[in-house]
Amino acid sequence: MAAADLSLIAYGDVVAGCERCALAKTRTQVVFGSGSPTADLMFVGEAPGFHEDKQGVPFVGAAGQLLSKLLAGIGLTRDMVFVANVLKCRPPGNRDPQPDEIEACESHLFRQIELIQPTVVATLGNFATKLLSGKPTGITRVHGQEQEVSLGGRTVLLYPLFHPAAALYTPRTLDVLQADFARLPDLLGRTVEPPAPPAPVARVAEAEQPVQLGLF
Ligand code: URA
Repeated sequence: MAAADLSLIAYGDVVAGCERCALAKTRTQVVFGSGSPTADLMFVGEAPGFHEDKQGVPFVGAAGQLLSKLLAGIGLTRDMVFVANVLKCRPPGNRDPQPDEIEACESHLFRQIELIQPTVVATLGNFATKLLSGKPTGITRVHGQEQEVSLGGRTVLLYPLFHPAAALYTPRTLDVLQADFARLPDLLGRTVEPPAPPAPVARVAEAEQPVQLGLF
């Protein structure tokens, strides 16, 4: 097994015992994340729900099935990407994550990104998008608009998407999510690099030089 895989597994073992917030008392288990430890594409959802808490795997319920279907539509499987959440433990009754829980948990996500080194991080819904963009702008305004951000010590392409749960019962949202998903292969083919240094100015041959317009 490669060193990257081992580091992520070792980190998962550490997080399994996390007691940084009160969710440790109500969870069945920590849901660390699943997929390839060296994935180019990482998805970040909100928090485990009922089924995820029971099985210890993210996105295994209805929203997860839709995520797998959307992935299949662009020729990918769950084990080719990495899937995680903002919170690693289920909030009771699937309520929204609270600010203190996000604050306690966020360094786990940042460390995962550091270890996996994805080139594209697709955020699913508002919580992941706001946390990783560092901006309060909601998903309805920013979905489908990639932006370069610095995460885990590297520049990655952040790509906000609607949460699959929001698309389950709203056909219009599903259409938008599918259209945004269709751009993922292109984004994955794009490397995020620092801007190239300016090209040396080539000497223009005398004959090609534009006629200097007289200014006066
Ligand atoms: N919704 C999420 O945001 N994450 C899961 O793991 C499951 C449902």
